[in-house]
Amino acid sequence: MDRVVMPTQNPAERIHNFKEVALGFTPSLALEEASRCLGCKNPPCMAGCPVGVKIPTFISQVKAGDMDGAYRTITIDNNLPAICGRVCPQEHQCENLCVRKVKLGGSVAIGALERYVADWALDNGVMPEKRDSNRFKVAVVGSGPAGLTCASDLAKAGVNVTIFEALHEVGGVLVYGIPEFRLPKELVKKEIAKLASLGVKIETNVVVGKTIFVHELLDEFDAVFIGTGAGLPMFLGVKGENLSGVYSANEYLTRVNLMKAYEESSSTPILKGKSVVVVGAGNVAMDASRTARRLGAEVTLVYRRSRAEMPAREEEILHAEEEGIKFNLLTNPVEILGEGGKVSGMRLVKMALGEPDASGRRRPVVVEGSEHEIKCDQVIVALGTSPNPIIKNSFKDLAFSPKGTILADEDGKTNVDRLYAGGDAITGAATLILAMGAGKKSASSILNQLQSAEK
Ligand SMILES: Cc1cc2nc3c(=O)[nH]c(=O)nc-3n(C[C@H](O)[C@H](O)[C@H](O)COP(=O)(O)OP(=O)(O)OC[C@H]3O[C@@H](n4cnc5c(N)ncnc54)[C@H](O)[C@@H]3O)c2cc1C
Repeated sequence: MDRVVMPTQNPAERIHNFKEVALGFTPSLALEEASRCLGCKNPPCMAGCPVGVKIPTFISQVKAGDMDGAYRTITIDNNLPAICGRVCPQEHQCENLCVRKVKLGGSVAIGALERYVADWALDNGVMPEKRDSNRFKVAVVGSGPAGLTCASDLAKAGVNVTIFEALHEVGGVLVYGIPEFRLPKELVKKEIAKLASLGVKIETNVVVGKTIFVHELLDEFDAVFIGTGAGLPMFLGVKGENLSGVYSANEYLTRVNLMKAYEESSSTPILKGKSVVVVGAGNVAMDASRTARRLGAEVTLVYRRSRAEMPAREEEILHAEEEGIKFNLLTNPVEILGEGGKVSGMRLVKMALGEPDASGRRRPVVVEGSEHEIKCDQVIVALGTSPNPIIKNSFKDLAFSPKGTILADEDGKTNVDRLYAGGDAITGAATLILAMGAGKKSASSILNQLQSAEK
């Protein structure tokens, strides 16, 4: 039995809309795929899940038609399954270790089944269960996957949780970064509404380190968790980067996702280039390219390594190719060209792959005499991000790495008593599920610390 393929919107249609590309399993497709799971006694897939979801158990419940049971099983370990089912890199995690992967028709589509169960629960208004004790008060800074998971686990244990979020919307990268066509925002809202049902208070438009300070939160709350992410974009550092028409992928995606710049009625304008160059090859670069395509552009992605080294999820790369994004690989920008203050083109060099560097990937080296120019009217830079320095600059007691990430142990403990941190704020830009895992670990250590102090 081969892996069941999830239906998707036709590429020719979807490049003209922002509706979700992957359409999800129908009940019969879900049953067919669930039946492929071998129910291994020592399931290798579980070792690949950073939050330890009991994968064969929930899949066997799907097979038996026990959707409520399947949902309860997943949510013991994962508070945001509708989101993880859509954007988690399963191909490198649980599905990569599935025993069916190589010779038995392909890995079981664990992510697609998780999404199927989570969507069923959202459609049927299933809410998480909460214990009533309300003994402790914890502040969570940042409402991305790390903060939401930490808040959710604490609230489920009966803790009074308040989330402080700098933006006017809750969800972090889930709302401002990942586009609607990969992760519908209504769905993110529904997942977040579950927190309100657990009694979590959310204060938006509060920039901790500006509006209120970490030491004030430590005075008012029994413990504080920082999950402020890594939202500060990196740039190329080449001539022409200040020209009109150059965007960081962060700004570009935020304007489109959060401010709905693609709608005519939006109050946030965005340049709709006709010929757009996106620099980078991670998920962020794919999202920016596919967004620009939907806004009517011919898009070229420029990356200094080869396809094998592209860090984006395989599904995103395939979807980008299907949508007509051109990949200009082994190529690096050296200058953004302009006319009248606006982008008019790019000067590039060809690259070849040398010996592996510290990341284990082969180091790109410039090919002599390969300089050439291409025309374009917009450039989007997607080279990665680092943590915003607001917390660092406003709370000198906290220890940071030279890269600006918060130093915390694997339980999320920082050098400051009762102060925990997790997610991209401590790892630098990583993945949703790693941020969720960090939020979970911190919630558990916060509970341990508060309960021990009570004894
Ligand atoms: C465009 C894009 C696409 C991605 N695609 C994928 C994908 O497909 N799969 C995947 O696994 N990962 C993906 N990632 C990475 C993943 O989204 C992140 O690793 C994850 O969101 C990190 O979670 P976090 O909670 O640590 O931080 P974030 O999601 O960044 O949330 C941090 C929150 O803290 C808030 N904040 C910051 N400073 C303050 C402050 N001083 N006071 C109050 N609030 C503050 C921010 O506004 C934000 O809401 C993507 C990232 C981007 C940018």
